Amino acid sequence: MKESIQRAFDAENFRRQGKAIIDLLADALAADQQGQVPQANPWKTPDERLAFWEEQFQQGSSDIAAITAQIVEQSTRLHNNKYAGHQVGVVTPESALLGLISNYLNNGMAVYEVGQAATVIEKVVIQQLLPYFGYDERADGILTSGGTLGNLTALLTARSVKAGKDIWQYGQRGQRLALMVSEEAHYCVDRAVKIMGWGAEGIIKVPTDEQFRMQMDLLVPLYEQAVDNGQKVIAVIGSACTTSTGTFDDLVAIGAFCQKYDLWFHVDGAHGASAVFSKKFKSLVAGIERADSIVMDFHKMLLTPALTTAVFYKNSKNTYKTFHQKAHYLWSNQENEEWYNSGKRTFECTKLMMGARVYGILKLHGFQLWEDYVTQQFQLGKDFAALIDAHPKFELAIAPDCNIVCFRYLPEDATIDLSAFNAAIRQLLLEDGTYYIVQTQLQNQTYLRTTLMNPFTTLNDLNTLLSKIEQTAAHLIKLEQAVSEERAAMVDG
Ligand SMILES: *Cc1c(COP(=O)(O)O)cnc(C)c1O
Repeated sequence: MKESIQRAFDAENFRRQGKAIIDLLADALAADQQGQVPQANPWKTPDERLAFWEEQFQQGSSDIAAITAQIVEQSTRLHNNKYAGHQVGVVTPESALLGLISNYLNNGMAVYEVGQAATVIEKVVIQQLLPYFGYDERADGILTSGGTLGNLTALLTARSVKAGKDIWQYGQRGQRLALMVSEEAHYCVDRAVKIMGWGAEGIIKVPTDEQFRMQMDLLVPLYEQAVDNGQKVIAVIGSACTTSTGTFDDLVAIGAFCQKYDLWFHVDGAHGASAVFSKKFKSLVAGIERADSIVMDFHKMLLTPALTTAVFYKNSKNTYKTFHQKAHYLWSNQENEEWYNSGKRTFECTKLMMGARVYGILKLHGFQLWEDYVTQQFQLGKDFAALIDAHPKFELAIAPDCNIVCFRYLPEDATIDLSAFNAAIRQLLLEDGTYYIVQTQLQNQTYLRTTLMNPFTTLNDLNTLLSKIEQTAAHLIKLEQAVSEERAAMVDG
């Protein structure tokens, strides 16, 4: 045995470094919770970071606890109560540990025999979840790597079911397929359509109303127009919710439309399908039980490490129709529907043991944790919106449905370009690093965007955020005044 190999697999080393890393992460968590971490997102330019890591690679420590400490120090701190940026889940420590188990065991899961526990745990988890969507024992589901892949998977299933299963073998044979989705839908739907080869005409974008909700009265005319145009519309996607503003489409109405025209009804619930766990907010997804397929990310609102995504199917038979791949080295029986050979139904061949993380959360805390968390965060979104609405210097984009809140600062000087000004505020906040928030474009205007993911963020923190934005705005105005005075002086001189 070569010494290098021996060293790489040293069990005592693993134990020692593992303990050091867990200590380090637990210290980081405690520090965030005790308000001892001043920046939720310490900012440096890409070139500065690159120079640092290039130098580290040449001369830095090779102790992985030390490397971990450096990575933690330079990373976005989701566990910090001033984190309100993108909708990435704040992970419970236990579910991070269960992720580690997958990293170590590395059971591939494509076939039952390589990952027996993980395969069966995934089924147990899916079965626990189905009733929350109003699905009965005919339903089923799979876990996959992210909402993007989950949506593509579900849409491939829709294509097989609604456009003929031979499509897998013979291609589309001249059929001009299309689906309908709100213009506010996540870009991954557009990508899925293009990947399937339907082209730009394959995605019919339904305009939204002033709440950014799909306009239901446009479904029939747009559908008829597409049919007249020689297209075959096979599906409608409801957003639950949209990414930019967190708006929930009317799933009851979309379901009824799909039923009437015999279309596949898919719900992109990457973020907001989690509403099903909240008694207070589950009416947002009323009608979800009508969907033929649903995507939900655990790594957004369900406190789980990325990537962990479920695709649920109302009719279990359909989950076997997505792919018709034969792989003789994997499956001895090519045609059979074997729930326990997960690779038959997922994009992944080798897959992370993602069910274990969900299983762990549910065993440790039950559904109560999700109920409490989703309810709290959605309510916080509404409370923050009320705060913004009452503030003379801020304007809410829309009254939010959930924990995604978009707004902008209104400077007194009406000649200032609002979009450029708010983008400049956002840039200064990013460079300051104390809070982390993002921005979005709504009707070609730039808005500040917060997603309230952290369960320790309080209304008080958000009040401080607004003050911070006001100070930043004042600073910007001063800067601009100084620049224009300098210019005037130059002209005079
Ligand atoms: C986040 C999101 C996605 C993409 O999911 P990933 O897990 O990031 O791939 C898709 N749709 C919606 C509505 C989302 O919010």
